[in-house]
Amino acid sequence: MVDGKKVIEVLRAIGVKIEEQKEYLTELDQPIGDSDHGINLARGFHAVGEKLPTVEDKDIGTILKTVGMALVSTVGGASGPLYGSAYMKMGMALAGKTELDMNDFLKGMDTAVEAVMQRGKAVAEEATMLDAMIPAVAAMKEAVAAGAEAKAVLDAGCKASWAGAEHTKDLVATKGRASYVGERGLGHQDPGATSFSYMLECVKDSL
Ligand code: ADP
Ligand code: MG
Repeated sequence: MVDGKKVIEVLRAIGVKIEEQKEYLTELDQPIGDSDHGINLARGFHAVGEKLPTVEDKDIGTILKTVGMALVSTVGGASGPLYGSAYMKMGMALAGKTELDMNDFLKGMDTAVEAVMQRGKAVAEEATMLDAMIPAVAAMKEAVAAGAEAKAVLDAGCKASWAGAEHTKDLVATKGRASYVGERGLGHQDPGATSFSYMLECVKDSL
């Protein structure tokens, strides 16, 4: 079981990770975008960090909704509304919860995927963050079905997420800025799929 305190700890770890990887994520966004993904997310998670003390004693749904709102209001670019609605919808799905088990977490992740698909009008194989998110969630569900422990479930999720991020090199983007470069984007890893993989790694490392 994971409580609100732990969720806040993970969110802080994500902020640290994004700050550490800010330049790398921005570099990935250079050939296929506008070189701002790391900068965008670092700004967003800095704002998240400032909001977290105000929700320390709140339920997990409220914590996640607050994160989403902070991201939407501070991150310019596509990733702000996308990650913002992912966290907000995850918060709505987990409203009132003070503890999460693996099923709750996966329900939240399902909602996050749906939120990004809806907001981005995107599906799998369009070279976006979804190409990390969708296989990661599928792998975690499979691991749960096979009776794996939480750590092994997150391990499987992270592996699938990074493989998915790697696979975006083989895809021609049809959504977002990367779609403007068309086939010239081949060989380049999607920054959003990469940032999602880092976020999931933080969840794994917290267990
Ligand atoms: P921008 O593209 O506006 O500069 P960012 O650089 O912060 O925004 O984020 C780019 C990332 O957002 C991409 O790498 C991709 O993963 C994701 N993305 C962009 N458009 C979409 C979309 N329509 N659906 C899903 N993800 C998207
Ligand atoms: Mg960009």
